[in-house]
Amino acid sequence: MNPHDLQTTPGWTLARRAERMNPSVIREILKVTEQPGIISFAGGLPSPATFPVEAFRTACDKVLRDDGTAALQYAASEGYGPLREAVAAMLPWPVDPAQVLITTGSQQGLDLVGKVLIDSGSRVLVETPTYLGALQAFAPMEPVVEGVASDEEGVDPTDLAARAPGARFAYLLPNFQNPTGRTMTEPRRQAVVDAAAAAGLPLVEDNPYGDLWFDAPPPPPLAARRPDTCIYLGSFSKILAPGLRLGFVVAPAAVAPKLLQAKQAADLHTPGFNQRVVAEVLRDGFLARHVPTIRARYKAQRDAMLAALTREMAGLGVQWNQPEGGMFLWLRLPRGLTAARLFPAALERHVAFVPGAPFYAGAPDDRTLRLSFVTVTTEQIDTGIAALAAATRQLVEAG
Ligand code: PMP
Repeated sequence: MNPHDLQTTPGWTLARRAERMNPSVIREILKVTEQPGIISFAGGLPSPATFPVEAFRTACDKVLRDDGTAALQYAASEGYGPLREAVAAMLPWPVDPAQVLITTGSQQGLDLVGKVLIDSGSRVLVETPTYLGALQAFAPMEPVVEGVASDEEGVDPTDLAARAPGARFAYLLPNFQNPTGRTMTEPRRQAVVDAAAAAGLPLVEDNPYGDLWFDAPPPPPLAARRPDTCIYLGSFSKILAPGLRLGFVVAPAAVAPKLLQAKQAADLHTPGFNQRVVAEVLRDGFLARHVPTIRARYKAQRDAMLAALTREMAGLGVQWNQPEGGMFLWLRLPRGLTAARLFPAALERHVAFVPGAPFYAGAPDDRTLRLSFVTVTTEQIDTGIAALAAATRQLVEAG
């Protein structure tokens, strides 16, 4: 069907943008992989072992005792003042709390950015590959999404500059990217920012994983270098808990009021109770004690996965990267073998992953796949990677 035809269902005529909405391929895959007995490297969830339940229990009590009625009332669309101040103080460049918009997850930030900056036919530049959820958030606004040539450090500044004229913005993930786990080096960041500035290209920087570094913190964000032409998105999902649905946007004055108006129309405001509870949890430097425990856990799991891959995949022609933080590792199968072919063979051996193809805006590299190392035990990593290697070997040998 022509995507510009109106889709009709009995009794209803759907909007053209609804035609652009698709079920997330990953959610469909997760339905299969969440069956009992499957070792799943497919999920994008943080480890529940990292959720600070006790700290939340105490904070919930305190908020209800001291500030209960305000916490349960409607509130300002910008967000809860003390939380905006806490966010501004967390960021590694000077940010006025008045610039911080608290959102219902950073996913809402992506939706608001799409609504405010994309018209039907607007060109939007993304990494190759990129975060599927951003493609989903932008799609209803009917952009033309272009993948910028990218390598193990992220986008190529030369290709970015070549594609920049007329593009509304480039959406970039410099730290421990979803899906690849890759990180932009310091020289690459500067080259990207310089190329974008020279071309007058605004940037949208998405950084939910930046605090989850293993050995050394990543270089400063792009927004720190170009705060006037960069929208920065952050999240509490990976450092506290995703069920809170708390994220934030730091936007330059030129677009901030429009993002706020879009937020107002979407949901009036982010839940005030959750915002107060998190502000309470953050008091007295909680993150400085808590986040290192997540880093240590995820690092041990990344190490286990790298060791298992080295042991099990030897001689198969499989390549993988060595992420320096975050939750994901990116793998490339040998010539002739696609992730879509490997998927059912792996599932037969009770192991699952996410094929890389849905993460590409343009022509996909169908030999790629994403592995999450954070919700599985090291024993499951050993068993699961051995099973994945056995399935790969079987297909490689079958030709
Ligand atoms: N951006 C990226 C790159 C992500 O991986 C995610 C979560 N999977 C999000 C944004 C959205 O996160 P949240 O809405 O939970 O803050």
